[in-house]
Amino acid sequence: MTDTPREIVLIKNGELALKGLNRGTFETALVKNLKRRLRSLGSFELRRAQSTIYVEPLDSDIDMDDVCRCVSQVFGIAAFSRARVVEKDLAAIQAAAVDYLRDTLEAAATFKVESKRADKTFPYPSPAISAEVGGAILEAFPHLKVDVHEPDVIVNVEIRDFGAYVHTAQIPGAGGMPVGTAGYAAVLISGGIDSPVAAYMMAKRGLALTAIHFASPPYTSERAEQKVRDLLRQVGHYAGRIKYILVPFTEIQEAIRDHCPEELFTLVMRRMMMRIASRIAEREDCGALITGESLGQVASQTVPALRCTDAVATMPVFRPVIGMDKEEIIRVSRKIGTFDISIQPYEDCCTVFTPRHPRTRPTLRMLEEAEAAFDFEPLLNKAVADAVPTTL
Ligand code: ATP
Ligand code: MG
Repeated sequence: MTDTPREIVLIKNGELALKGLNRGTFETALVKNLKRRLRSLGSFELRRAQSTIYVEPLDSDIDMDDVCRCVSQVFGIAAFSRARVVEKDLAAIQAAAVDYLRDTLEAAATFKVESKRADKTFPYPSPAISAEVGGAILEAFPHLKVDVHEPDVIVNVEIRDFGAYVHTAQIPGAGGMPVGTAGYAAVLISGGIDSPVAAYMMAKRGLALTAIHFASPPYTSERAEQKVRDLLRQVGHYAGRIKYILVPFTEIQEAIRDHCPEELFTLVMRRMMMRIASRIAEREDCGALITGESLGQVASQTVPALRCTDAVATMPVFRPVIGMDKEEIIRVSRKIGTFDISIQPYEDCCTVFTPRHPRTRPTLRMLEEAEAAFDFEPLLNKAVADAVPTTL
């Protein structure tokens, strides 16, 4: 038996971002996602008991900062606590509170102790535990005062079946729903700022993601494609495992350039993307598409333009950033760590053959006429057939 103090993460029912879903399904998915995410940090035991998920490191060299960072990126958790595990003994709990919370208590002016005794075999009732632990803290930190109304620090003591726990404030979680509980969707991912944010936002609502990226070599480079993989790996810290599908798009873009009026290049291209993405999404059992379009941001994102793109999609198209300003989107991209990758200057297929004066008020008729100029069906079939899933 070693005496090294152990730490644990506690996620309580009140801290689950549960809405509308059966609690059992929600928790099972959450525990599965947590297990998978934590695997890279070492071995853990995850237990569900007394309306709490216990995340307990089993290796002594696991860094709890890493564990907390990892847990804070798993959707479905509104908040969690990092706690010291203590023997169920009052003197041990007093010593642990003083030792474990030393830095926080030294920096505070006021505190209070809140105790919960779930294990009724523990001989002291909650108010007595609070009084005893509070006394020990006052003795160790004479500058402190008790304030039960607005304390700087709340010291939590919990006596549960598996042990006793001491902790302070809750840590904010990522919110949202566990990935997978809302089904599958395919995100059209570019190397830009917006689509990784869109992917993050929909994963937050519980969608497991397949990512579709269109590349047009040699107009687009190997580096541009690598950037997309880097972005997806970063989004994966939140969204979990992402299936990646690369679509060869060169022939289609060349055909558009050769056959369509220049002012419609971008829109015809976007409709081809939607057609291909819809087919791949059907094949991959996805129920929706996700894009990073934001109203009015560019010519292809006006209402008439979006109407033309939507017309060829065979499933709902989610555009979570549609009502966000660029600044707001950038704020999220910084928060999730995709911004610095997105701003690396590599060309996307959208910047190949861009029209000088794109149409901002296109009609479906204009587009259908432009597309009638060439036989795109075989090209679409070929692109879909050649688009194979790879691991990131
Ligand atoms: P982003 O910042 O996401 O690149 P954007 O503002 O640059 O978006 P567009 O380039 O017009 O806008 O693209 C709009 C949306 O179309 C993107 O958010 C993305 O969902 C999709 N898209 C664009 N280029 C590609 C691509 N090469 N592969 C897959 N999807 C793409
Ligand atoms: Mg773009």
